[in-house]
Formats: sequence, C-alpha cells, structure tokens
Amino acid sequence: MARSRKERRAADREAVKDAKRRLKLADLEPGGSPERPIVVATPHLVEPTAKAKPCPVCGGAVRVLEHLAEGALRVAVVRCSVCAIERRVHFALESATLN
Ligand SMILES: [Zn+2]
Repeated sequence: MARSRKERRAADREAVKDAKRRLKLADLEPGGSPERPIVVATPHLVEPTAKAKPCPVCGGAVRVLEHLAEGALRVAVVRCSVCAIERRVHFALESATLN
C-alpha cells in the first residue's frame, strides 16, 4: 500500500531531523568547531585529513572545496559528493600550538 502524503512528509521531516542530529554530533568531534581543531604537523596534511573523513550525514566521500587560513587555524571546506552537504573542518598546526 502506498504511503499517504502526510506519512511521507513526516518521513521527510524525520530524515531532516536525523541529518541535523548527525551534523550536530559531528560538530562535537575533533575538527567540528574552531574550539576543537584537529592538530596536524604541516598544512599539507589539512586536505588529505579532511578528505579522509566521510560525510557525517550519509557516510559518502567528501571533496575539499577550499583550504583557508583563519587566524591561527586552517579550515577545510568540504562537500559531500553524495548528499552535497558542506562542512567546515578545523585544523591547528602543531608548530602554532607550541607557542
Ligand atoms: Zn553526505
């Protein structure tokens, strides 16, 4: 039996809620916020490290769109190639944390 429109809308809402919840959890992981950067030895490791983390929403592979320097931090802007969610992954350079 086909699901009613109301049921389908509820399922969509659930999916969005689920995605938001997963994104929030990912923000608590290393790299998820400026307060919790992933520490890398050199800037060259920023992009491969960001790319190695799968999309928190669907588990798909991500692509690095941009690699930014923001104050003492490096930020990799990544986009999931499956669900197109964009995230910012934060990094700190080991040399900078020694000061
Ligand atoms: Zn995704």
